[in-house]
Amino acid sequence: MTLDDNAPVLSIRNLHKCYGALEVLKGVDITAHRGDVVSLIGSSGSGKSTLLRCANLLEDSQEGEILFKGEPVRWSGKGLSRRPGDAKQVLRIRTNLSMVFQQFNLWSHMTILQNVMEAPVTVLKRDPKEVAEAAHRYLAKVGIGDKADVYPAQLSGGQQQRAAIARALCMEPEALLFDEPTSALDPELEQEVVKVIRDLAREGRTMLIVTHDMKMARDVSSHVVFLHQGRIEEEGAPDRLFGAPESERLRGFLSATQ
Ligand code: ADP
Ligand code: MG
Repeated sequence: MTLDDNAPVLSIRNLHKCYGALEVLKGVDITAHRGDVVSLIGSSGSGKSTLLRCANLLEDSQEGEILFKGEPVRWSGKGLSRRPGDAKQVLRIRTNLSMVFQQFNLWSHMTILQNVMEAPVTVLKRDPKEVAEAAHRYLAKVGIGDKADVYPAQLSGGQQQRAAIARALCMEPEALLFDEPTSALDPELEQEVVKVIRDLAREGRTMLIVTHDMKMARDVSSHVVFLHQGRIEEEGAPDRLFGAPESERLRGFLSATQ
């Protein structure tokens, strides 16, 4: 199937996800067009990580649709289908919706450069020389161009997270998915990662960002979604949502996070 460049990069419709008897997502809709920065906010346990994990097919889901540039990547009621060719599709989705995790997840036995090059070379079979050039470029872009040959343990948390962002960028994805990228960091290190995310937003990168950092969400997002117990309780443009929240629950959430 050919991808439709005019379709949203990611479109999630009526997504339901259960863990056993626990329904964690109860019909969620999210659309991200090219260049959109969509932030997901909400209390711990509201389903934010699960939503990201379903979007890039780290998790199965029970009902609803996920479309990547118009291509359905799951079908209502069937879970992830097991037709021939699906492994390729899963790989394409994971490559194109590249995740950045809270805990960085860098390989400790590899240098920063090796970490950034690993998936493009071994999984995507790209030319190592070209990947190395791109890796150096992305490391420079996130401000750690001089750290290519050191090991993760030699970097601060903020530098490790920036290396993880360079690694995600080196997949040349259509969109980046961030799951609480700053919450494992000390406040002074948080800002260097926020700056990188802000620069990526200004460049017009498509991003889905789960964050507890309301200031960043207000600053970088084109759209903010407030999840409550697996449903979208309220959503809107950042200034409206933060400036004039309508729902009592969102008002309560925002006053608790001030
Ligand atoms: P958030 O990221 O908003 O804090 P999560 O998506 O991590 O929320 O979790 C939503 C709910 O799903 C929570 O009740 C959590 O305990 C549950 N949950 C998450 N992952 C699993 C899992 N692998 N097995 C069972 N329950 C899970
Ligand atoms: Mg989470």
